[in-house]
Amino acid sequence: MLLEKNLPLKNLTSIKIGGRALYYAEPKDLKELKEVIKLSQVRDIPLFILGNGSNTILGDIKGLVLHTKNLSGLSVQQKNGKLRVEALSGTPLKEIIKLAVKENLKGIYKLLGFPASVGGAVSMNAGAFGVEISDFLKEVYFLSWEGELIKASRKELEFSYRKTPFPKLGIIYKAVLEFERSCEPILSDYNRIRKVRKEKQPINLPTSGSTFKNPEGDYAGRLLEKAGLKGFRLRELAFSEKHANFLVNLGNASFSEARDLINLAKEKVYDAFGVILKEEVKLIESSRSDGWKVLGA
Ligand SMILES: Cc1cc2nc3c(=O)[nH]c(=O)nc-3n(C[C@H](O)[C@H](O)[C@H](O)COP(=O)(O)OP(=O)(O)OC[C@H]3O[C@@H](n4cnc5c(N)ncnc54)[C@H](O)[C@@H]3O)c2cc1C
Repeated sequence: MLLEKNLPLKNLTSIKIGGRALYYAEPKDLKELKEVIKLSQVRDIPLFILGNGSNTILGDIKGLVLHTKNLSGLSVQQKNGKLRVEALSGTPLKEIIKLAVKENLKGIYKLLGFPASVGGAVSMNAGAFGVEISDFLKEVYFLSWEGELIKASRKELEFSYRKTPFPKLGIIYKAVLEFERSCEPILSDYNRIRKVRKEKQPINLPTSGSTFKNPEGDYAGRLLEKAGLKGFRLRELAFSEKHANFLVNLGNASFSEARDLINLAKEKVYDAFGVILKEEVKLIESSRSDGWKVLGA
């Protein structure tokens, strides 16, 4: 399998910020996946699992970046009137959304409009408009860091708001999801959500979605706006004029700009409201001396 060296990462994230990866691999099957993980362990360098990079801001990774894009494929079965979907981790989530529209499936269509991979969505427990991907999850097949393929049922795993046991437990290889058909046509609600996203989110600019998680009982966007951060710019990076919780890259923004702006926003919100915002976005960089560890876990 081809291992690339010194690969620029910028174009692998939706916000288009990235340093370089010392090593980079795109395994195409389970055997190669195991090999890549082993390699990072043998060389004692940090490992980062990259899905579609839509929740990630990357600096220099003096380790190994493992991209899941080639672990892709969907299979669909009818079971007791429901649809059982098996999706490899690198499959774009939008393929499941397309299926939902075609088959008029309940709920999952609400996760339209963000460029996740299935593995990234499960690992983040992605959610929107009152649904989370874990609502549809039946099983996860993951490769443990000891190299064993494990099948876990949804009930054995803890999912909450943007919180899951992954990638701490291992790398998600395949997700099994189950969907019911809706009695009502879903298309008008699908179009309504599409319109809301277009109007309220800067989807035409490089962004990584929500920067901070919503604190309990409030919205990070509201607090950021009240603290004067809506539209606030630091060199090439800004909190969007459309949605205060979305960072947008206005040109050639860097990892350190992202880190500085995020820290500044946290300080301002804390000073104004006494609330400590927690990052939803994964800010990842590493030095070689970090040794083997899973970044972002
Ligand atoms: C315009 C826009 C709108 C968005 N709106 C929403 C929204 O409404 N709701 C929402 O929840 N998110 C939203 N997001 C954020 C983002 O799309 C989601 O968090 C998405 O689930 C990330 O998937 P990804 O494949 O891009 O993950 P990445 O960014 O590549 O990775 C995210 C994390 O998951 C881990 N990971 C990835 N693949 C695996 C795997 N196979 N096994 C184990 N760990 C893995 C990574 O190591 C990292 O820690 C939005 C983003 C954008 C750009």
